[in-house]
Amino acid sequence: MSGATEAAELQPQLPPAKLWIGGEWVESEGNRTFTTENPATEEAICEVASASAADVDRAVEAARSALEGDWRKTSARERGKLIWRLADALEERIQDFALVETLDNGKPIFESRYVDMPSVIDCLRYYAGWADKITGETLPLSGPMVLNYTLREPVGVVGAITPWNFPLLLAAWKIAPALACGNTVVHKPASLTALTALKLAELASEVGIPPGVLNVVPGGGSEVGGAMVAHEGINKIAFTGSTEVGVGIAKLAADSVKRLSLELGGKSPNIVFADSDLDAAAKGAFNGIFYGKGEVCAAGSRLFVERAAHDELLEKLIARTERLQPGDPLHPKTRLGSLVSKNQRDSVLAHVEKGRAEGAEIATGGVAANVEGKGYFMQPTVLTGVDNSMAIAQEEIFGPVLVTIPFDGPEEAVALANASVYGLAAGVWTRDIGKAHRVAAQLEAGTVWINQYNWYDAGAPFGGYKRSGYGRELGRQALDHYTETKTVFVGK
Ligand code: NAP
Ligand code: MG
Repeated sequence: MSGATEAAELQPQLPPAKLWIGGEWVESEGNRTFTTENPATEEAICEVASASAADVDRAVEAARSALEGDWRKTSARERGKLIWRLADALEERIQDFALVETLDNGKPIFESRYVDMPSVIDCLRYYAGWADKITGETLPLSGPMVLNYTLREPVGVVGAITPWNFPLLLAAWKIAPALACGNTVVHKPASLTALTALKLAELASEVGIPPGVLNVVPGGGSEVGGAMVAHEGINKIAFTGSTEVGVGIAKLAADSVKRLSLELGGKSPNIVFADSDLDAAAKGAFNGIFYGKGEVCAAGSRLFVERAAHDELLEKLIARTERLQPGDPLHPKTRLGSLVSKNQRDSVLAHVEKGRAEGAEIATGGVAANVEGKGYFMQPTVLTGVDNSMAIAQEEIFGPVLVTIPFDGPEEAVALANASVYGLAAGVWTRDIGKAHRVAAQLEAGTVWINQYNWYDAGAPFGGYKRSGYGRELGRQALDHYTETKTVFVGK
C-alpha cells in the first residue's frame, strides 16, 4: 500500500477551535469561530477560532515574554536540537499532517504526502543546522589598539502572515529561520487553510520548544494581519501573499519602521528554444503550470515558444494536458485536485473569459470540471493566440491556466519575458549551454530554472524582483532577515 493511500485512510486529527498562545489552547475573544471547508466536497471540516486585535495583543505578550525569558536562556545549540526534534516529530505524523493539508486545501494527497510535508521537514532540519553557526566577525579598523566585533542578534518577535497555497510549507520557510536565529513568532495562517499551522504549534510544545515561542492566531486578513503589522510589540513582518495586500502591508509597516520581507505574486515566463529537448520541455511546461493546480506563486504561467518549434511543442503539451483529469484529492493517483475555494475558481474562470474576449483561443480546457458533482474543480487550460500585452498575459491568474506566445530569437524572448511588473521566477529550455547562461543572466527574476521548472531547495534562496517582493527566503540569505547586526567598538 502506498503512503498516499495510507494517509487518505486515516481519521484526521483536527485541532480544537481555539488559538494557540503561550503553549496552550485558549479561546478567542468572545469565543468567535469560523468554518473551514473541504473545497473538494464543499463540506465543513471543523470550526477554527477567529482572533481579534486583543488576541493578537495576548499572542505578542506571550511571544515577548518567551523572547526575554526561556528562549533567550536556550543556547543556540539547544535551539537547533529542538528544531530538529520538531522535524522528527512531524516525520512521525507525516500521514496525518498530509491528510489534513489535503482536506483543507484540495491539493492531491500525493503532493501533500510526498512534496509539501517532506519539504517542511527538510526546511526545519536545514535551519536546525544553522542555529549554532550564525556568527559575527572581528573587523580590522584604522585606529590603533581598538577591537571591533559584530554580534548577530535576533530581530525579536516575528509576525508571520502566510497564504493558502502551500499552507504549512510557506509557514516553515518563516518559522524555521526565525526560531534558528533566536526569535519568537506570532503566526497568522490563511483563513482558508489554518489547520496544519495550529497542529504544528502544538507539536512544537510536545517536543520541548518553550511556551510562547510559537503562537498561532487565525482570523480575518485585515483584522488580525493588520493588527500584527501595526503592533509595536512585533519587530518584523514576514509576509507571503498577493502583491496588492503586500503593498498595503508595506505602507502600514512604514509607520513603525518595521522590518519587512515580502514574497508576492508572479507571472513567470517559461522560455522554450527550438533547440531544446522538446519532450522534456513539454513536460516541464506542463508541470510548470499544472503542478499545485497552478496555485503556485512561481507557476510558469507564460509559455514562450520559439516559432520553429511552436506547433510541435504545443501538440505535445496539449496531448499531455488532455490526459490530466481533475479528481478526488484523496485518491493516491490524482494529480490535479480542487481549487482552494469557490471564489478562487470563479476568479480563474473570469480571467479565462477575459482572455477569450481579448481574442485568445482556448486550445483545451477553459471550463469548470465535474468530479462527482461537488467541489471547485477546473479543467487544465491552455490558451493560444495570446499577445504578451493582453490582460491574460499580464495579470496573475493563480490557477491551472497557461498562455502561450511565440517568439523569434533570444533577444525577443528576453524582452517579452521581462515585459511584466513581476519578477519571481523563469524557465529556460535549450541544449545550447552558452545561450542558457546568457539568457539566465538577462532575465529579471529571483530564480531561473534551466531545463527544469518548479524546483526548490531549503538551501537555495527564493524571492522576487520588481513587484514580486523583496527579501529572500531559504538559504543562508534568509538569516539576514531574521537577525540584527550589532557593531561593538572596544576602546583602549
Ligand atoms: P492574500 O490575499 O494576499 O493573503 C495572504 C495572507 O495575508 C493571508 O493570511 C491573508 O489572510 C492575509 N491578509 C489579507 N489581507 C490582509 C491585510 N490587509 N493585512 C494583513 N494581512 C492580510 O493572498 P492569498 O490569496 O492567500 O495567496 C495568493 C497570493 O499569494 C498570490 O498572489 C501568490 O502569488 C502569492 N504567493 C506568493 C508566494 C511567494 O513566495 N512569492 C508564495 C505563495 C503565494 P486571510 O486568509 O484571512 O485573507
Ligand atoms: Mg479549507
